[in-house]
Amino acid sequence: MTATDFEPVIGLEIHAELQTRSKMFCGCPVLDPLVSEPNVAVCPVCVGLPGALPVANRRAVELGISVGLALNCQIRDFLAFARKNYFYPDLPKGYQISQHEYPIAFNGHIDVPGPTGRVRIRRAHLEEDTAKLVHASDGTTLVDFNRSSVPLFEIVTEPDIHSAEGAMAYASAVRDVLRYLGANSGDMEKGVLRLEANVSVRERGTTDLNTRTEIKNLNSFSSLGRGIELEVQRQIALILSGGKVRQATMGWEQAENDRDRVKLVEQRIKENADDYRYFPEPDLRPVPVSREWVARLRLELPELPTARADRFRTAFGLSAADAELLTADRALGDYFEAVVRGVSTPKVAANWMLGEFMRLLNEGGGELSSVKVTADALAELIREVEQGNVTPSSAKSVLADMFASGERAPAVIARRGLTTLRGADALTPVAEKIVTDNPAQVAQYFAGKENVFQWLVGQIMKATKGQADAQQTRTTLQAVLEARRPK
Ligand code: ADP
Ligand code: MG
Ligand code: ZN
Repeated sequence: MTATDFEPVIGLEIHAELQTRSKMFCGCPVLDPLVSEPNVAVCPVCVGLPGALPVANRRAVELGISVGLALNCQIRDFLAFARKNYFYPDLPKGYQISQHEYPIAFNGHIDVPGPTGRVRIRRAHLEEDTAKLVHASDGTTLVDFNRSSVPLFEIVTEPDIHSAEGAMAYASAVRDVLRYLGANSGDMEKGVLRLEANVSVRERGTTDLNTRTEIKNLNSFSSLGRGIELEVQRQIALILSGGKVRQATMGWEQAENDRDRVKLVEQRIKENADDYRYFPEPDLRPVPVSREWVARLRLELPELPTARADRFRTAFGLSAADAELLTADRALGDYFEAVVRGVSTPKVAANWMLGEFMRLLNEGGGELSSVKVTADALAELIREVEQGNVTPSSAKSVLADMFASGERAPAVIARRGLTTLRGADALTPVAEKIVTDNPAQVAQYFAGKENVFQWLVGQIMKATKGQADAQQTRTTLQAVLEARRPK
């Protein structure tokens, strides 16, 4: 057997913090981890004082159900929590309130664009986040309880993924869904979305589920992909050399001989569910989840990214890649649809959005909400181009000006004198001048060097700063040259 005889088998767990105002089981606010002082959102419940009683956050349950529905899951008709017992300094109670036997959502799937295809969702359950350990430079470890008990939704797949790229595509599709629902910002650098990969390998053509390892603390799509690749290689090499994969949690470590390289090492032999001594949470009795509530949440679901991308392809004639780019972010998709309403060709609107607009958006920090150009104003600029009032190349600088000044296209075009030069009256003098100033090239043209014509067009464009109408420039130049052709 060789390395290519093996197939990776991957199941992912995604932990998504739910964007609620308050925590999962108390009234403390959920704060932005990047800007908040430590330990300012704390109360007896979320620091685990004895006797403090949890109350489930209705909005968190609602968001969990909505995400479950968006992932085509069944929604359980009751809500039940369980205690997951373990000791760690970031867990003040000594147990995490989670769901065990009765996850709120189960048996779902998501269709991932591209070769990955359908990934089945085994379960998705509500739980509370742990506090955050901060390892200070002097060797002490500090605890920040702001994150303690922030609502978390854990989404667990079946082992349906067979490549690192597939895992990244799946994670990215789920992230888009979470962002569409306003359930999670998707800001991986803030740690609000965290990934774990379960990895095993098997001989191609078999359906075995072999011993797997788990890679924790994957906090970007690239580390997810890299981690899976490294682990698949490690397992294959191990098996080919006669070894056996052990069920373990893998962690990152720097390679001994190269500080820039990281590798995966066995951190601890994995605990089983039994080790957590799960039992029903006595402080939160099961409550019914009414079908009316679930039906209402289903009705309130927005059109989701994949369905929207399909519609953009069929209704607007976009490529799959363009449709995906324009639907990954809900607000961007809304903006695009508003631009489309104001122009005659959706494809042209897409080209503007994905080209010049995106470039300027990213240059300005990538925040659509802070862009001064409304969808209506962008549509108006595109119409100015379509009507020939401004050339495509001038329009780019008009858009940059609109981004900076917030003015509408006609005002910018007038202020900067960028109206397209059109008609023989405007273009003939320019063409005459270019022809007069370049006798050598003109002689070459008359001698049969056809491509000099294009060069002369270029000179006219240069002289008019790109404002001459391209088609009319050609016909005018042709006329001027023919009038001078030697008999
Ligand atoms: P635990 O609850 O101990 O984390 P589960 O059995 O619920 O374990 O599985 C967790 C994840 O591991 C799921 O995403 C599942 O698809 C995946 N998984 C289970 N068995 C395998 C395997 N043999 N290879 C790869 N992934 C697996
Ligand atoms: Mg796990
Ligand atoms: Zn609290």
